[in-house]
Amino acid sequence: MHYSIKTIIRSTPRIAFTVALAFILCLCTGCVNLSTVGNVGNTLLDEFGDVNIFTDAEEQQFGKEFVAQHDKQVTFHTDPVVTNYINDLGQTLVRYSKRNDIPYTFKVVATKGVNAYAVPGGYIYVHLDLIRMAKTESELAAVLGHEIGHIVGRHSMKRLTKAYGIEIVKRLLVKEDAGEFKKLVADVLAAGLLFKYSRDDERESDFYGVQNAYDAGISPEGAATFFDTLREMQGREPSSLELMLSTHPASSERVRNVRGQISGLPPKSGLRADSSRFQQVKRRISSR
Ligand SMILES: [Zn+2]
Repeated sequence: MHYSIKTIIRSTPRIAFTVALAFILCLCTGCVNLSTVGNVGNTLLDEFGDVNIFTDAEEQQFGKEFVAQHDKQVTFHTDPVVTNYINDLGQTLVRYSKRNDIPYTFKVVATKGVNAYAVPGGYIYVHLDLIRMAKTESELAAVLGHEIGHIVGRHSMKRLTKAYGIEIVKRLLVKEDAGEFKKLVADVLAAGLLFKYSRDDERESDFYGVQNAYDAGISPEGAATFFDTLREMQGREPSSLELMLSTHPASSERVRNVRGQISGLPPKSGLRADSSRFQQVKRRISSR
């Protein structure tokens, strides 16, 4: 859902005041003071909850800068057999997702540990160790669908708004001060801010992920069995799950919700649980 700043200001005098205050603060100091004005953003978000007022172009611009800085710190797996497969599976899911009018990029990370995450603007990262851990293609699809869900729900942009305030981020996005924009992105990256989702965000992403797999002709059961695989692995190799569980706790509530949603889906024939291509990829990366 998109609202223009003007609409919001017109409809709520109190918000108009806080936005005006943000402007005044900026004008007075002559520069962007992120910590001072962050509180104003919190007020705005408290008022409007889930309202997202960034345009796709703004989100993509933020994502592009984030990725440029983030990718310097990451080791990628570049075997085309693996990367092409992840991209094909990811793009299939994207086609059936609720936000398929922006381009998506899928990247395979070689850094140790099980993890997957999404960066605003359509960038999705999946660790090799997560592909190794998934038992079937539908489990991997559940994870990718969940991450696409974070993009659909614009969850990270909401975190950003909450931390810094809408006006500040918007001003920096139009690059009135390119240096400050880069600094903001560096701060966000260092704090891991984009991935601190709320329980509601997680719930929403789980919901989108299950629906997305089902709509794409992939068995949504993968979402439920992935939780079983997580729990199994937690007992066996807990240290490898630290990254994943720090942002995605495998709570019983999530498992319950996902199972409930799956049981409510209408029966559909031909849902794919696994593929030979996925198993081929798994064999290929297990020997490395
Ligand atoms: Zn998540």
